[in-house]
Amino acid sequence: MAIAQGILDIALNTAAQNDATKILRVSLLVGQLTEIEPASLRFCFTALAADTPAAGAELEVTVVPLTGRCRDCGGEFAIDHYRFYCPECNSAAVEILSGRELKVEHLEVE
Ligand SMILES: [Zn+2]
Repeated sequence: MAIAQGILDIALNTAAQNDATKILRVSLLVGQLTEIEPASLRFCFTALAADTPAAGAELEVTVVPLTGRCRDCGGEFAIDHYRFYCPECNSAAVEILSGRELKVEHLEVE
């Protein structure tokens, strides 16, 4: 719920800055690691957005897969089932490249 409120605040602020009166669509990037469920996020957002310029706005959620890079061999790979080690050399020195995102990527207003 707090996350949905944060997204709504960003959307409303951005719309206000652009003199928009209505928010039509919010495109969101959500990293896999955030464990945010798009369906429940959409539900919370819709509930919170009622009686704001974002009422009825579509919340489009793109899940960013979790990927990492090995600090030892430099290999890049997808991380499945939270196994944070390198599939090439079994090193645990893994740096997360993507999957932690939580940001409003695009806003459609009128
Ligand atoms: Zn490696």
